[in-house]
Amino acid sequence: MAIEGGCYCGEIRYVSKNPAQGQLQCHCRECQYITGGNPNAIMIVPEKGFRVIKGTPASFARKDLERPVTRFFCATCGTAIGTRSPARPGSFIIKIGTLDDPSGFQPQMAIFTIDQQPYHHVPEGIPTHHRRP
Ligand SMILES: [Zn+2]
Ligand SMILES: [Zn+2]
Repeated sequence: MAIEGGCYCGEIRYVSKNPAQGQLQCHCRECQYITGGNPNAIMIVPEKGFRVIKGTPASFARKDLERPVTRFFCATCGTAIGTRSPARPGSFIIKIGTLDDPSGFQPQMAIFTIDQQPYHHVPEGIPTHHRRP
C-alpha cells in the first residue's frame, strides 16, 4: 500500500510506493528545533519509490558540518517534510506528521536520547540509544 502525505498548506505532496523500513523517534537537539520541542517521529522509506508528486520542496543543509543532512520543507507554510541523510544512503526520512494518516506510527527505538528533555515521552519497552545504535 502506498504511503501518501504532504505539507500543511497542500503545496507539497509526496508518495512512497514502498512500506517503511523503520520507524523511530529522534530526540536530538536539531529535531527539537524542527518539531517545536518534542522528539521527531520519523519513518524511513527506500528512496527508490519515493517521489514528490506536487510542488518543489525547499531544502537546507548546514554549511558548517562535514556531513550535514539535507532538510526538505515547504517554502510557503514551513512544514518540515523530511530529510536525506548521508548516514542512510538510498533512503528518505519522512516526518510522520506529514502523512495523510499518521495514526499508525509505532516507533521501534528512540535515538539521541543524550538530548532527551524531561518532558519527552519514550514508549515503554522500546530500545533507546544515546546516539545511534
Ligand atoms: Zn505547505
Ligand atoms: Zn534528530
